[in-house]
Amino acid sequence: MTRPKHDADTPTPPEVCFDEQAAVEYCEQVRWGDTPLCPHCQQADVYKMKDRETGTRNKRFLWRCRRCDKHYSVRWGTVLQGSGIQLSTWCRALWESSRAPHGLSPQQLSRCLGITHRSAKFVIERVTQMQIFAENERM
Ligand SMILES: [Zn+2]
Repeated sequence: MTRPKHDADTPTPPEVCFDEQAAVEYCEQVRWGDTPLCPHCQQADVYKMKDRETGTRNKRFLWRCRRCDKHYSVRWGTVLQGSGIQLSTWCRALWESSRAPHGLSPQQLSRCLGITHRSAKFVIERVTQMQIFAENERM
């Protein structure tokens, strides 16, 4: 078995690949721009939930809607909904797959992200779906 070499030519992954908050904020920006509409009622009267003790963003990066009082995150209504895998891990998987023109194997991905083989298979399936959607949108 050959292991991928890590030499000086290997680019460092961007911050969104290892910083969860950066990954979440990036995805929020991509999805909503400056208007994070509530996916339940489509109103913009929403706010970021904060951790009561630290005053920083809630650990699950939830938003709450003042109109319908429901909460949601940027994953809501996307293929990432319901997955316990961090968004930074998804970003890293997308980044790795963009550098692997022949696709990634679950073995490679599980080693590189430190996730189980089963999670890696799941991530690859979803990443492939996302790439298919992106291709279709371009057409
Ligand atoms: Zn709402």
